[in-house]
Amino acid sequence: MNMDHSKIPQATAKRLPLYYRFLKNLHASGKQRVSSAELSDAVKVDSATIRRDFSYFGALGKKGYGYNVNYLLSFFRKTLDQDETTNVTLIGVGNLGTAFLHYNFIKNNNTKIAMAFDINKEKIGTEVGGVPVYDLNKLEEHMTDDDIPVAILTVPAQAAQSITDRLVALGIKGILNFTPARLNVPEHIRIHHIDLAVELQSLVYFLKHYSMQEK
Ligand code: ATP
Repeated sequence: MNMDHSKIPQATAKRLPLYYRFLKNLHASGKQRVSSAELSDAVKVDSATIRRDFSYFGALGKKGYGYNVNYLLSFFRKTLDQDETTNVTLIGVGNLGTAFLHYNFIKNNNTKIAMAFDINKEKIGTEVGGVPVYDLNKLEEHMTDDDIPVAILTVPAQAAQSITDRLVALGIKGILNFTPARLNVPEHIRIHHIDLAVELQSLVYFLKHYSMQEK
């Protein structure tokens, strides 16, 4: 199906991942069709908006039938580029890094950890979860092509900034930072920071706070 993406309003485009996730669940549960009312209920968008959004995709619901789930799903898959795999590199094959290498990201969102790096001689040259672990000193040798736009950082905090600088020099576009370090990067680079210790602490804080109010 050919479509001019520039014709889809931004507000509609923003709702696409929401629709997509819901339709995947529907499909997994074996449903063949869905009405705009059901969709509306699930994604909390009014059904007139859903019908208008879907008309941009060339999906016209039939009265008393609704929308064909398979059709919509294949449309969303194409539109959201979910058929394309994004390669990721992981730096720091410790406990957390090892867990990520064993975890199959590709099942959920079509990202694939293609290579990993560490400084520990015992880890260099091994494979973890099917992913080769290389010497961090050879980062520039291995990351030669432009096909790894994302890095996951699971190194000790004090190593994070200098590794980040090297990744930036290599043209990385986004970093998922699991270290407690705050990273300095040029504006065009996107950093998502996940500090697990802080997240856990804040959850515990909110639980305590909440239960105090209840007492
Ligand atoms: P975690 O559970 O946080 O992954 P860990 O306790 O297993 O960590 P850390 O000391 O946090 O181990 O180190 C994580 C990984 O990063 C280890 O495999 C270690 O060899 C590696 N590492 C340590 N320093 C550096 C560095 N400067 N550059 C790259 N990797 C490093």
